[in-house]
Amino acid sequence: MKDNILSKRIRSITESATLEMTRRSRELKAQGRDIIALSIGEPDFDTPGPVKEAAKKAIDDNITHYSPVAGFAALREAIAHKLKRDNGLNYKASQIVVSNGAKQSLANVFMSILNPGDEVVIPAPYWVSYADIIKLAEGKAVVIHTDIQHDFKLSPAQLEAAITSKTKAFLFNSPSNPTGTVYTAEEIKAFAEVLKKHPDVLIVSDEIYEHINFSGKHVSIAAVESVKDQIVVVNGVSKGYAMTGWRIGYIAAPQFVADACTKLQGQITSGPGSISQMAALTAVENPTQDSDYLHHMVAVFKERRDMLLKLLDEIPGIKTNRPQGAFYVFPDVSYYFGKTDGSFKINDSYDFCMYLLDKACVALVSGDSFGDPACVRISYATSTDLIKEAVRRIGIALEKLN
Ligand code: PMP
Ligand code: GLU
Repeated sequence: MKDNILSKRIRSITESATLEMTRRSRELKAQGRDIIALSIGEPDFDTPGPVKEAAKKAIDDNITHYSPVAGFAALREAIAHKLKRDNGLNYKASQIVVSNGAKQSLANVFMSILNPGDEVVIPAPYWVSYADIIKLAEGKAVVIHTDIQHDFKLSPAQLEAAITSKTKAFLFNSPSNPTGTVYTAEEIKAFAEVLKKHPDVLIVSDEIYEHINFSGKHVSIAAVESVKDQIVVVNGVSKGYAMTGWRIGYIAAPQFVADACTKLQGQITSGPGSISQMAALTAVENPTQDSDYLHHMVAVFKERRDMLLKLLDEIPGIKTNRPQGAFYVFPDVSYYFGKTDGSFKINDSYDFCMYLLDKACVALVSGDSFGDPACVRISYATSTDLIKEAVRRIGIALEKLN
């Protein structure tokens, strides 16, 4: 049998660039290479103790059967309560759908709302999987470019200009992966002003980095009264509670969107794992403002951001913005395009990453998969010692280029 049995749908997408680079670094490490992986976006902290205890108890209590498709009632209630407590949002538990990670939540939403050719407006740089999830759902990503000089911020005028009669959704991410950009309450209100004029456009607000915000308290666009019926909030426990491997994400959505996602999920996964859900319940019940765990994690990320920006500043030709959240820096490295060490020529950000992987044993992710080919993404979700060593090696490798 030949691979032409594969569908056009699966041929239309690429391997996730973040996961590809992580796979490559694992392979090289297995071959004995001393790779520093600044490619994957996941906290290097351990899941908090009480969350792990809740999972162990779930096993002992035999909470090991299928849960309701949209998640256990107790977890959906706790998420509705969290949205009220932390974000001032009013959702009924019936409007919450729990999935296998926020990635599946996003896939559920776009599979549920898009017909072939429907448009989704996304500001670039965007997280790698957005464009491919939209493709899988046979939609069309309408990408709006933003630039580093303006902190990669989209303007309301750019948003307005991108909306057409085919626009089904606007996909918004603050704090942002990969740029760390955090929009202010005023900026978010200005987007809402534009979007309320388009009541048939769904606003999909990916708030997975809500807790990793150095500029103050997170503001959800769902808190803007005039557009609240247009909003799907996407969130989860992966980043804020260092629970990436547990695979729990969720949406809070208009009832018909929640029902559609539940119907889809019921045919595809039957819902998320029961043990992970019980662990997530303990995580979301924890009032975040009192969480020493979270305060510590955010303080550590902020220190690392400051250190990384300072170290990058010492390398010629690397331009950065000042990220206010998440745990990434997304520098413009185009200064190095066209340069060579005598044997390898760097034409683009992909080559730049391959050069550093080979010569510095440091794994980064190239910016083209985030919609900005001048940049690369550096994750600082790793120890200060490794960050220092990685930047030292990057500096030495880049010095050899002419
Ligand atoms: N959105 C963004 C912006 C992300 O960076 C991630 C991280 N993978 C996700 C969604 C998905 O998170 P998860 O599936 O682990 O909940
Ligand atoms: N969100 C993380 C990243 O951007 C995890 C990997 C992924 O799912 O893309 O690296």
